[in-house]
Amino acid sequence: MRLNNKIVLVTGAASGIGYAITELFAEQGATVFASDIKAPLKPYAEGVEALDLDVTSEAAWKEAVDAVVGKAGRLDVLINNAGIIAYEPLDELGIEAWNRMIAVDQTGVFLGMREAVRVMRPQQSGSIINISSIWGSAAVGGAHSYHAAKGAVRNMSKNAAITYVGDGIRVNSVHPGFIATPLTDAQAADLNEATIGATPMKRAGRPEEIAYGALFLASDESSYVTGTELVIDGGYLAQ
Ligand code: NAP
Repeated sequence: MRLNNKIVLVTGAASGIGYAITELFAEQGATVFASDIKAPLKPYAEGVEALDLDVTSEAAWKEAVDAVVGKAGRLDVLINNAGIIAYEPLDELGIEAWNRMIAVDQTGVFLGMREAVRVMRPQQSGSIINISSIWGSAAVGGAHSYHAAKGAVRNMSKNAAITYVGDGIRVNSVHPGFIATPLTDAQAADLNEATIGATPMKRAGRPEEIAYGALFLASDESSYVTGTELVIDGGYLAQ
């Protein structure tokens, strides 16, 4: 029970990494508010509260965080996990596709951190965990908008960590390598094989392997950890 009495909001919780975080955190004693734009692929664990939250909407963020605080009285942990991926190189990238990526993967994180800080500052405590990617700190060809957004999330996390360090708020980013989720299942098999082949462990990661990293950052075990990048990638970035 490493998260007893913690009130947690997870975005993009209906599948993949967000779902694994929701399940593990509930098992570890947290009260979890699981948000997404769709219903979960499998039912959430007992006690998990489902919320509608499109992370691109300023109004929806306010409503969701107000709902959490209205029901639970506080917000201890925010997991900014919702995300999409796209592979266009920059010369093939249209402005609409660019704007969509930035809206979900970057602006969503900005809006979420802003709403969380609004609640966490008066509490003088909180942990914000932003899911970036290995491609937030290293490059692969193509995927220009995804690199832009995930790189921004890496640095936005460090900025928020420094800005609110005096308010007892910790902010860290998590950088998964290739993880088997509905998002990667929907990708071309040769693309997935190439990424796994470039991973020293030569296998896909499991969503729970990211959830365990987030668990450390959410718990009081990481009380001296802020502004860091937790890489969970089977060795990919060590090369
Ligand atoms: P996933 O299975 O597709 O889960 C992401 C969830 O976010 C989906 O339910 C998705 O709904 C939802 N979502 C999309 N747009 C949203 C919005 N505007 N507001 C709220 N929710 C929204 O993907 P995942 O692989 O678990 O990825 C989770 C996070 O990890 C993402 O930020 C991703 O970039 C990051 N990541 C993943 C990997 C990997 O290999 N899987 C590696 C590095 C980083 P829809 O299905 O309708 O889009």
